[in-house]
Amino acid sequence: MKQSKQLNLIHIIILIVLGVLALNTSRAAGEKDGLLKVYFLDVGQGDSIFIEAPNGNQVLVDGGPDDKVLSELGKIVPFYDHDIDAVVATHPHADHIAGLVGVLEHYQVGKIIEAKEEYDSATYRAWEKAIQEENAEIIEALGGKVLDLGNGVTVTLLYPLASVAGTTTNRPHDDAVVAMLKYSDFKVLLTGDMEVKTEEELLIRGVDVDADILKVGHHGSKTSSGGKFLSAVSPQLAVIQVGARNRYRHPSPETISRLTANGIRYYRNDTDGTVEILSDGQNYQVKKY
Ligand SMILES: [Zn+2]
Repeated sequence: MKQSKQLNLIHIIILIVLGVLALNTSRAAGEKDGLLKVYFLDVGQGDSIFIEAPNGNQVLVDGGPDDKVLSELGKIVPFYDHDIDAVVATHPHADHIAGLVGVLEHYQVGKIIEAKEEYDSATYRAWEKAIQEENAEIIEALGGKVLDLGNGVTVTLLYPLASVAGTTTNRPHDDAVVAMLKYSDFKVLLTGDMEVKTEEELLIRGVDVDADILKVGHHGSKTSSGGKFLSAVSPQLAVIQVGARNRYRHPSPETISRLTANGIRYYRNDTDGTVEILSDGQNYQVKKY
């Protein structure tokens, strides 16, 4: 009787030890689970998309209008991780690059990808200064360039199709960086603030825009997401990066109607918060973060 009690005790201790090992194993598996993770960060009225490849490589596309991006990243990135492999600035408007200034201060960024055009604003000057102080490789965004994140995950730049480096612009939307994130069969189209003019140019040039997930252009403005473009992309799902009660009244009812008419379900940051999409390269899952 006494012996059997002892055995039971040993048994329980062994089970507890195994339980702890299993927990550690599942945590380790969680870090390298073969999944691509795309977070559409809730940064208010602006764009910011954080991408983590299955091997841990990280890319941030835009940084929103202020430092909120830092607190959003802090919820995802472990406190000891101070590196981001690449930052893409789609265009020089403050709702895309103002937050990136703080990102460059807090993280060691390996590569900065932008169209390299000049823009006259205090935010843009602060961004240029931050770039000068960062020891990053600066890459000109140009259609056809591919950023290889490893494990078959790539970010292919689709726009601008011709160099605008060194030119000064009053209409940054017309040169905004457009990119396709791809992991095996799974594709996410990142549109920045691209408007119908660029959408039609991409279609005329025969650029493949077909994707599973669409980041809706220009916060759901009616001047983006034209019907022809939406049917060419034919996404199952869209995400609208938009702040609550924003002064532009984005997203426009016209854009919402066009999405609905094309059978495209959508999430929006103002009502859903940060939206996370996980994919194994074939299927995907959406989580509100
Ligand atoms: Zn914008």
